[in-house]
Amino acid sequence: MDHAVRCKLVFAYCALLLSFVADAVAATAPAINDPAQLLRQAESVEPSNHAEFNKLMRQLDAVAMGLSPQQRLHQRYLMARELAFAANYAVALPSLTALADQTEDPVLAFRAMATVIDIMVAESRYEEAFARLNPLLEQLPKIKEPGVRIQGLGVAAQLYIEAGQYDVSTRHADQMIKESTNAQSACRGWFYKSNALFEKGSAQLPADQLRDGTEACGKAGDTLFALSFQHLLADFDLRQGHPESAIRVLQASYPKVQQAGFPPQLSQFESTLARAYWKSGDLALAQKFANAALATNANRQYAESTANAYRVLYEVHKETGDSNGALAYLEKFTTVHDGYQSRLSAKVLAYQIAKQQVLAKKLQIEGLDKKNRILTLQGELDRKAAETSRLYIVLLLLVLASIALWAYRVKRSQLRFMRLARRDGLTGIFNRQHFVNEAERQLRYCRKSARDACLVLIDLDHFKLVNDMHGHAVGDRVLKRAVDACQAHLRSTDVFGRLGGEEFGLLLPECTLDNVLPRIEQMRAAIAAVSGARDAPGIPISASFGVAATASSGYELRQLMNDADCALYQAKDEGRNRISLFDAAMRN
Ligand code: GH3
Ligand code: MG
Ligand code: MG
Repeated sequence: MDHAVRCKLVFAYCALLLSFVADAVAATAPAINDPAQLLRQAESVEPSNHAEFNKLMRQLDAVAMGLSPQQRLHQRYLMARELAFAANYAVALPSLTALADQTEDPVLAFRAMATVIDIMVAESRYEEAFARLNPLLEQLPKIKEPGVRIQGLGVAAQLYIEAGQYDVSTRHADQMIKESTNAQSACRGWFYKSNALFEKGSAQLPADQLRDGTEACGKAGDTLFALSFQHLLADFDLRQGHPESAIRVLQASYPKVQQAGFPPQLSQFESTLARAYWKSGDLALAQKFANAALATNANRQYAESTANAYRVLYEVHKETGDSNGALAYLEKFTTVHDGYQSRLSAKVLAYQIAKQQVLAKKLQIEGLDKKNRILTLQGELDRKAAETSRLYIVLLLLVLASIALWAYRVKRSQLRFMRLARRDGLTGIFNRQHFVNEAERQLRYCRKSARDACLVLIDLDHFKLVNDMHGHAVGDRVLKRAVDACQAHLRSTDVFGRLGGEEFGLLLPECTLDNVLPRIEQMRAAIAAVSGARDAPGIPISASFGVAATASSGYELRQLMNDADCALYQAKDEGRNRISLFDAAMRN
């Protein structure tokens, strides 16, 4: 199939050429002034009735002032199609490109871009056409209108055949067939699908494809695609060595093709007829159709049909023995064929370049994506690491806090136990053991610093009576009151402890027998002042005091205690509630 034919076929103006004739009798619509309706009508007749289309466009010009901005863009699209129809690509192309940028309607933008690609193909600007194909196909999933989708798929199916990408083209053609809502669209899909198979080198169409394609194109009427489908069938016949069958098919459509008068298609039919007649041995008809093809292609350089026509003429002249004529046609054939071939390679090259550019861009994007992903992952990792170290710090602090709390509790209970171990449970003052330890420590210190000290033993008088008369609990309370009374007169350095029962010890540092008396007298008076009335009525509370001093008894606690005990014994003996100072004479 001549590539030029296929390219032009896509273009609506090709269809228009045919439809112009076919639909010339179509009823023309009465004049309307509603812009929206005018646009709709122009849109619907554009592929089938060029005269009516032109008329509607002029009507639209007249009501242009009343168009909304969106309607104005739509009008501009149709105007650009009109320009493209008139092959005024130089004006149509920038207008469509600008339109695709300006419109907010994705469907209109898509149609404008599809038309841009068509124009680029028509102008043999393949590289640019291929470069625009991918962005167009990316938009396709967003397009829902069946006709517009067919337009996009058709552009792709055709361009991929140009590039030699037959399988990709077939996929798009299949999609066209699947989505087609009318016989024209289906026929166009079958044409591309069969054309791809032919270009790929297949000998024949599979039976079902032949049947379905023929049926769809039969229903489509005598559209350019339907006629080209017939040409394709003839091409397959020729490839299989059935020139007669090809001639039958071509001749059946030839009058309609002539009527349509689309030069690329007409010359294609003529050159293929020439080839078929040549193959069937009819040299005269072969020559006739070859010349007809050349005449039709008079203005076209490097068409496949021109090359084929020259080839037939060369063979005919060779066959008839006209070697000069044969040589002349061979030269012409070679020139056209080379030119045609180099255009073919240019297309494939353009496709490859566009593909490489897309690939390069994709790789670049993937590279950037990867970089971004790595950076994101690194960021996440850093955040996680920071989170983890924060967690560790918190854990560490928690552990430290628990250790500190635990240590504090242990220390506190230790201290409590120590205190309990040193104190008398009832009165809270030192117990006997701790009193002994503390008193000895004080005495050592006094001995070292040559200070005097006095040891006092205190014993409550007739205490047994308190217990006996009022019970042990009352006795305990009296004991505590007596201790409180004494403590009120103690200095911080004095050591006071309970030695057992109702007997107490008191070490007074920096005291001599001469100056100790007033202080002990205060204590005695304080105990005697403890009113027994509340706790133990009828029994006066008092205590007896025995005092020994380091000056006469030395710094040994045991000796001091013995001597103080002697003095205490004397105080009891002398009538109690009194103080007795130790005298060496007491020892015996
Ligand atoms: P004296 O004047 O001769 O010292 O007479 P006393 O009754 O105090 O004689 P003694 O020393 O023999 O009696 C001490 C009494 O103290 C014996 C005991 O009932 C009482 N006692 C000892 N320890 C406690 C105590 O912890 N609580 C109470 N309530 N009584 C105690
Ligand atoms: Mg006693
Ligand atoms: Mg007593």
